[in-house]
Amino acid sequence: MSIELTPLPYKASLLEPFISERTVQLHHGGHQAAYVKNLNSMMELDGDTRSLEEVIQDSTGATFNNAAQVWNHEFLWNSLTPPGTSPSIELQEELNRAFGSTDGFVSQLIQAGATHFGSGWAWLVHDGSKLQITTTANAELPSLTTSQPLLTIDVWEHAYYLDYQNRRPEYLEAVLRNLINWQHIEEQLRADSTLTHRN
Ligand code: MN
Repeated sequence: MSIELTPLPYKASLLEPFISERTVQLHHGGHQAAYVKNLNSMMELDGDTRSLEEVIQDSTGATFNNAAQVWNHEFLWNSLTPPGTSPSIELQEELNRAFGSTDGFVSQLIQAGATHFGSGWAWLVHDGSKLQITTTANAELPSLTTSQPLLTIDVWEHAYYLDYQNRRPEYLEAVLRNLINWQHIEEQLRADSTLTHRN
């Protein structure tokens, strides 16, 4: 099996002015591409036939880190979309129940990402009974078997340093107030909450 670098779901310039084209290109074509390359070299050594999700479940160390980062970045780009969308009434009601309001959800996610120490990810997940915000360190991701990730935002410095330098809260405000792909959240909520396998 070979893992591909999944193309961006939109042109790299379309997240401007909130994320620059240069940042998106470096993030996808540099950082994410390196995780893909590293993972393929590790898996070829083993003659590995597992899916990406199976590798994530089974592995530790460098193999886990690269596999999880490939998954996280694919999920990241799908979590964002050029500005202009809004959540459906049904999703707004879900967000109201968990966070008071849609704006309350966005504010709490910004706060979670801004206060996460070091590199990692901030997430919206469904844990089987409710929506929840969580953060993970480095390449870690929420369990794919006991929870359903719905959205992620990258808080590694490479995600924002060119555009915002050390101002992580400003990056999170700009991105999460303007670029959330609400439709993707709804698609994930409707999907089977068990581990999804690739071909
Ligand atoms: Mn990244």
